[in-house]
Amino acid sequence: MKFKGYKKLSGKILIKTGLHIGGNVEVIEIGGVDNPIIKNPITNEPYIPGSSLKGKMRSLLEWRLNKIDTGGNVHSWCGNNDCPICRIFGTSSDEAKIGPTRLIIRDAELTPEYKDKIHREGISLVEIKYENTINRITARATPRPLERVIAGTEFNFELIYRIFDMNDQGKMDEDLFKYVLDGLIYLQQDTLGGSGSRGCGKIEFVDLVNERGEPVNLSPIKKGNST
Ligand SMILES: [Zn+2]
Repeated sequence: MKFKGYKKLSGKILIKTGLHIGGNVEVIEIGGVDNPIIKNPITNEPYIPGSSLKGKMRSLLEWRLNKIDTGGNVHSWCGNNDCPICRIFGTSSDEAKIGPTRLIIRDAELTPEYKDKIHREGISLVEIKYENTINRITARATPRPLERVIAGTEFNFELIYRIFDMNDQGKMDEDLFKYVLDGLIYLQQDTLGGSGSRGCGKIEFVDLVNERGEPVNLSPIKKGNST
């Protein structure tokens, strides 16, 4: 096994519709909402955990690549050295054959511009959205508060993709990088975080550049090329 280098994508994540990534209810402050978003415990700023981005990308790619088993479990080591899921996202068993996880996604912090909005301009980037449950007989609505990062907010985005030569087919990791780009496109087409089916969590990757600073466009996927 030989480390050959890495690819990198950096840019911004633009929140298109309110984003709800749930925080820890255990540490919720008294008088806080029932459904808080995750925030940095020191600065209290909202952020997007890299694990949320990576987990959603993985799940969307597993669906598109037909890697979902009948139980709906996370795809586990399937024994295929060329499996994009096992190779890109890693596998708990048989690492020796397939090598370490290729994809690293950093936690996405607010861009400096949006940190300034909080700390200098005193603008809250968090809203409370009320979702109603409607009683079928009385037609009475029971509101349920949901915290969201407001649309228009921007976070810094950084993704690292490590390339290894596993003594198999030299350029396989390079070739599989296209699935990472597909995953980002699927993420834009789908939603991130909670309440996606009720309008939350549409995001867009903007100003993406690669490790050489060259612009990267996430072009729409041609039908049928991703299997
Ligand atoms: Zn696999």
